[in-house]
Amino acid sequence: MKKPVFIYSEQLLNYKFNDDHPFNHFRVKLTYDLLNSMGALTEEQVIPPLEACDEQLALIHDRAYIEAVKKAGEGDYDESASLTFGLGTEDTPIFPHMHEASALIVGATLQAVDMVMDGKATHALNLSGGLHHGFRGKASGFCIYNDCSIAIEYMRRKYGVKVLYVDTDAHHGDGVQWAFYDDADVCTLSIHETGRYLFPGTGQITEKGQGKGYGFSFNLPIDAFTEDESWIELYKTSLLEIADYFKPDVIFTQNGADAHFLDPLTHLCSTMKTYDTIPRLAKTIADAYCGGRWIAVGGGGYDIWRAVPRAWARIWLVMNGIEASGPLPSTWLNKWQKKSPVTLPETWEDRENAYKPIPRKQEITEKNALTLSKALYLIRNEKRT
Ligand SMILES: [Zn+2]
Repeated sequence: MKKPVFIYSEQLLNYKFNDDHPFNHFRVKLTYDLLNSMGALTEEQVIPPLEACDEQLALIHDRAYIEAVKKAGEGDYDESASLTFGLGTEDTPIFPHMHEASALIVGATLQAVDMVMDGKATHALNLSGGLHHGFRGKASGFCIYNDCSIAIEYMRRKYGVKVLYVDTDAHHGDGVQWAFYDDADVCTLSIHETGRYLFPGTGQITEKGQGKGYGFSFNLPIDAFTEDESWIELYKTSLLEIADYFKPDVIFTQNGADAHFLDPLTHLCSTMKTYDTIPRLAKTIADAYCGGRWIAVGGGGYDIWRAVPRAWARIWLVMNGIEASGPLPSTWLNKWQKKSPVTLPETWEDRENAYKPIPRKQEITEKNALTLSKALYLIRNEKRT
């Protein structure tokens, strides 16, 4: 019987800028270990990735950029030339063998795609992927090669499918949106903290696509301090309506876990309730429209001990129909508490009243509801007349 697959090897952790950088793929290992400690991963479900080749990277990226990444990773770079490619900045510093580490992540996402599209797996998960800010010729926001964009373009060409891209990272999925902005066969939905104060600043409701792609780009920029209830309402309503309107052949989800209230880089207030809802509805949509075809990747998430492992493990559990609540496995807690600089949560759920009440709750909820109706106006009105 076909099962979901989990793309993983320790080599994926080589995507590492430096010890002080907030992007830390040790969170992938922590998640893998959490799932293992509860017996949720079987040996045949774990698939090691292969490095993507230049032709695959060039589905999205300029050859000159790929060459620049290679050179930078070999220590052979001119500082100002590298900066024009977004390499050597504070966000994306140069590190040894950065090309190989980045190409392996792309290869892992392509592996996930092939397993699902060739019918070998029901769903596939690559938590090391989700590097949604990478542009054709430029690194941006901790992202070098954009595995999401490459995977979507790869699916378009190899399998000729219509792809629904759903991005629940706290930051706008700009790289993917712009890559398919004029394409009617790729529909993008991004729910993110408003770009008023947060990187990358784009993702307005008015960014709806262009040319043939008009009406296939959706953005829900939500207010800082948005909590579960409002977030979930926007997610459920938008995803259900967009899926019904677009009727995808496959769903590709980017699962940044940085909307969690503990995340140090953003200002949203989601708890595990949100991270339980995200994969459940994604699976429902995959089953209803896509014959189950669902590829999920990771993304942002900077509270690597308390927030990310639980949020990401949930995706795999939902893929496999495994329910989990209450205490986390004690073997995992005992093993990692010693190494964690913060006290680990002991349960799958966040405790009630885990953060200070948000005084503007009502105002934020109303504003988000208005954003939702504006973002869906096109589906509800324009396209139907
Ligand atoms: Zn993010």
